[in-house]
Amino acid sequence: MTVVVELLKDVTKNMLVVKREEGEVEVDVHSIINNTNSLLLKDHLTGVFNRRYIDERLQVDIINNSINKGTLSLIMADIDFFRTVNDTFGHLAGDYILKGIATILESCIRSGKDWVARYGGEEFLICLPITNIDIATKIAERMREKIQDKVFEYEGQKIKLTTSFGVYSIAYDNDSSLESLISFADKNLYKAKQDGRNLVVSSD
Ligand code: GH3
Ligand code: MG
Ligand code: MG
Repeated sequence: MTVVVELLKDVTKNMLVVKREEGEVEVDVHSIINNTNSLLLKDHLTGVFNRRYIDERLQVDIINNSINKGTLSLIMADIDFFRTVNDTFGHLAGDYILKGIATILESCIRSGKDWVARYGGEEFLICLPITNIDIATKIAERMREKIQDKVFEYEGQKIKLTTSFGVYSIAYDNDSSLESLISFADKNLYKAKQDGRNLVVSSD
């Protein structure tokens, strides 16, 4: 969390300046830190965590997984034929749907423990600490069904779409790099796409 710590130093500096210039003005340090962390670590469009958060937090979760001798699961999700959604309904409708999908993904996880991040354009990474492959697959399946059943409404247009999922579980003694762990989830996602999309493919 080096970035966060660096940021804290800046926030503290600003706080002191505000106090000196404005005398008794009370500064809510916690909300400053929360707001700034949110700016740094959340994706602006969807409100879920961003790529920087993945790089910093996943490393910590993997270390904790080794210490706890547990199993950690990753889900990589990619919206199916999203280019067609943009082409048919417009980019703003696409943006609206991206937010909606992020909300659905978040509604399927345990808050505080698990997390959802935007990995790239229309791809999301979900991290489930202390979760084995069977449970992770069930969670991905729930996400898949919820998205499949959702009717998005944008400016009077009804839009339906699906998402494909790759699930990969990591045992505590797995010492592969972060990138290769993500790539295993990505390979399963690729299989789900190849097998026809709107599918969950899992392995450990
Ligand atoms: P596949 O089922 O193989 O994943 O097909 P796809 O069309 O989803 O995949 P492709 O990689 O061809 O297209 C991804 C599209 O996602 C293209 C890009 O315009 C769109 N996209 C990426 N980021 C955003 C965004 O922030 N907003 C919107 N509206 N569209 C985005
Ligand atoms: Mg993609
Ligand atoms: Mg896609």
